[in-house]
Amino acid sequence: MRTPIVAGNWKMNKTINEARELVTAMKNDLAQLAATGQVEIVLCPPFLAIPAVAALVQGTPIQVGAQNVFWETKGAFTGEVSPAMVRELCEYVIIGHSERRQYFGETDESVNKKVRAALAQQLKPIVCVGENLQQNEAGQTQAVVSTQVRGAFRDLTRDQARGIVIAYEPVWAIGTGKAASGVVANTIIESAIRRTLAELYDESTAQTIRVQYGGSVNAKNVTEFFAQPNIDGALVGGASLVAADFIAICQAAVKCNDGRRMTDDGRRTTDDGRRMTDD
Ligand code: PEP
Repeated sequence: MRTPIVAGNWKMNKTINEARELVTAMKNDLAQLAATGQVEIVLCPPFLAIPAVAALVQGTPIQVGAQNVFWETKGAFTGEVSPAMVRELCEYVIIGHSERRQYFGETDESVNKKVRAALAQQLKPIVCVGENLQQNEAGQTQAVVSTQVRGAFRDLTRDQARGIVIAYEPVWAIGTGKAASGVVANTIIESAIRRTLAELYDESTAQTIRVQYGGSVNAKNVTEFFAQPNIDGALVGGASLVAADFIAICQAAVKCNDGRRMTDDGRRTTDDGRRMTDD
């Protein structure tokens, strides 16, 4: 079974003091939820707030992620941050978010370079893929998403691939309040993402890699996504800036995962699907 992962992408929001306030308001609840082992919880603040957030969650199972990273290890790259620098304080890094593709010219090629550089430093990438509105309306969703997955995973071994989280984020759903339907997102993940991963690697790898949904997830609609068999958590933007909402989303992940672990006859299973008690 894939453990769901909920990551809060704070984008360019929160000063250091505001970040401290937000984490302080959520920390105990999130730590308890993460301690169940039923959900991984990752906070992705802006770079400057990462040290403060990392200090506050130290000793808890809450993890920290960056929102971007450069692919070079060091040198004359003004304004950039290397994977080794990020790794000092973070476990995860978001790579190829649609806002970075749209506003900062990131391409499948640069995403792949960043993914490889992050993996080389034992950083876990959360790779974002998703079609824009025009592509969606032109019926190109599957092709676009599949191409993005192929680009991001280019030249990666099976073991490397297994360490990556994918966030399926239809661009038209990000920050718009118009989420995709759970059923449709599940279908795209199955038919475009997992199928592509199976073609690149094998079926077992395709079933091992976790795929989040992202795009206007909130405390009210989240269960619709977590109830889907191919969706393993969420990448959350706006709602991750409101303590009560982000806690509710993580609570929903635990609840849905608990449901998934029940066998048909109501007995609980272990992480790999074996029954915890014999007949
Ligand atoms: C995101 O930032 O990746 C995102 C999905 O934002 P929002 O939840 O606000 O749509």
